[in-house]
Amino acid sequence: MDQVELIQSKVDIVDLINSYVPLKKAGRNFRALCPFHSEKTPSFIVSPERQIFKCFSCGEGGNVYHFLMKYENMEFGEALRFLADKTGIKLKSFRPSKAYQEREKLISLNHLASEFYHYILLKHKVGQQGLNYLLGRGISKDSIKTFKLGYAPQSWENLQDFLVKKKGFKRPDLFKAGLVVSGQRSFYDRFRGRIIFPLYDHRGNTLGFAGRVLEKDLKGAKYINTPETPIYHKSDLFYGLNITKKAIKEKDKAVIVEGELDLISSYQAGVKNVVAIKGTALTESQVTLIKRFTPNIALALDEDKAGDQASRRGIEMADKEGLNIRMIELSFGKDPDEAARHSPKLWRQSIKKAIPIYDFYLKSALKRFGKKGGESKKKVSEEMVPVISKITNQVVQAHYLKKLALSLNVSEEAVLREIERYEKNEKIKDDLRPTKPRKEEPKDKTRREKLEELLLGLIVQKKKGIKKYLLKVKIEILKGNAIKRIFEALNKYFIKERKDFKVNDFTKVLPEELLETLDQAFLKDLEIDLSDKEKYKLDFAKVLKELRKIYFKEELNILVSKMKKAETNNQGKKLQKLKEKFTSISQDLRNLV
Ligand SMILES: [Zn+2]
Repeated sequence: MDQVELIQSKVDIVDLINSYVPLKKAGRNFRALCPFHSEKTPSFIVSPERQIFKCFSCGEGGNVYHFLMKYENMEFGEALRFLADKTGIKLKSFRPSKAYQEREKLISLNHLASEFYHYILLKHKVGQQGLNYLLGRGISKDSIKTFKLGYAPQSWENLQDFLVKKKGFKRPDLFKAGLVVSGQRSFYDRFRGRIIFPLYDHRGNTLGFAGRVLEKDLKGAKYINTPETPIYHKSDLFYGLNITKKAIKEKDKAVIVEGELDLISSYQAGVKNVVAIKGTALTESQVTLIKRFTPNIALALDEDKAGDQASRRGIEMADKEGLNIRMIELSFGKDPDEAARHSPKLWRQSIKKAIPIYDFYLKSALKRFGKKGGESKKKVSEEMVPVISKITNQVVQAHYLKKLALSLNVSEEAVLREIERYEKNEKIKDDLRPTKPRKEEPKDKTRREKLEELLLGLIVQKKKGIKKYLLKVKIEILKGNAIKRIFEALNKYFIKERKDFKVNDFTKVLPEELLETLDQAFLKDLEIDLSDKEKYKLDFAKVLKELRKIYFKEELNILVSKMKKAETNNQGKKLQKLKEKFTSISQDLRNLV
């Protein structure tokens, strides 16, 4: 057993996945809503016996490594090391890929830079003005430590000197990490004279920084950020999530704010289930990420910008993904930072009073356009119709249709007609758009394929007394190549007079290319109680009968064309034989029905 296998054998896939996605016991397996695609009924299965997972809807599947790579966006080496740490196994030799080494290097560079900035802020005299500024703004020392805030001295090369001369890194790597800017002759530090907010991914890797000027010298941009680098992608990041994810899971709700200071002030005010999007619009990757922790979000975004296109698109996306979205209206101040600092109690109350997003849209439109007179009503309706049209849940949609009609004092029918007109126009626009190349969708399985899979499932999911049932299956009735070969292997396996079926013994003798088909059948939810012997017997017979029917019909079809051929070729004897065969199979078929 190599180390990869050893580590895998020490980790239980059920425990591991359960710590990310709550699993429910379902027979011998566990089940959950698939974290890799959006669904309402669970088709994601985890098998403790096979130590694998499989989604029967989107097809994602694999072992513990695959899960981490897919779910946590880890590279293989990262997943290996992660599980090695977890199991206390020391990795002997592991040659990581180039990309992985590069990523690790950039992360450790960023990490060291964050230590440097943090040290300057708390311990060095040049950081004093930064510290005074933060404390003066009501940021506590605890928060400074929790979020590892720092200060970048007003200098061109302090950070470089530290990383290059003291830590032995090379300048081009600093450049790649976005820590320095390339000047005419040399590199210079990107962040100078700024408060530093390290930006982490939700696992706590330092990916980049945001630097904020001190209030008094407002020259240049108020904030500058690490540019896009191999590890930092602005649109993927949720500021604070590495610290607040636990609180978000516990409260089953995420309060979403815009900026770093909004987040820290909220955290200090006792609202710890908070993340910042670093902008005004939710992105697709953020929606996917937050969904892992909770389906409930409450947005505290700049009210003036809440109506803009990007912001609405983000919310539409979140709605499509099935998130419950509420909007927080501040009872004080221009942003959550001000609100939370002014009164933690009021801030908490505004969160409690958050209203459903569509109510907010309606309220905001009515506030801006009024509801008296045709022109105002038209404007409100023009803004609300596209919103209502995109609501995915029909009951919710009907509710807002009614509400809009009531608010404008017009008939529901009029609103409904507007929605239909809008949808028609959208469809025309859609049709005019150049068609996107469609993803190849797996074609639906034929009835026969489904039955064969079911038959195999019935065999391999049963622990005892399989042999008897296996003998009833004549391999020639099967058509699927992989399934046929698995049945052949099963027969061989039982020749050695084994009484019980142990799936993990069987997989050792099974050619690797058949594993996926086997696992598919082994994990499939058969909706049959395997311990009920009588019921099993009946179900098994039913499936087998259906398959035989299909097989006989197919054979008859083949015979008919052969008979025709024999007839045209005047092969009397042959024709006679074929006819006899036809009669006999027809009889078999009749006996089945
Ligand atoms: Zn899926």
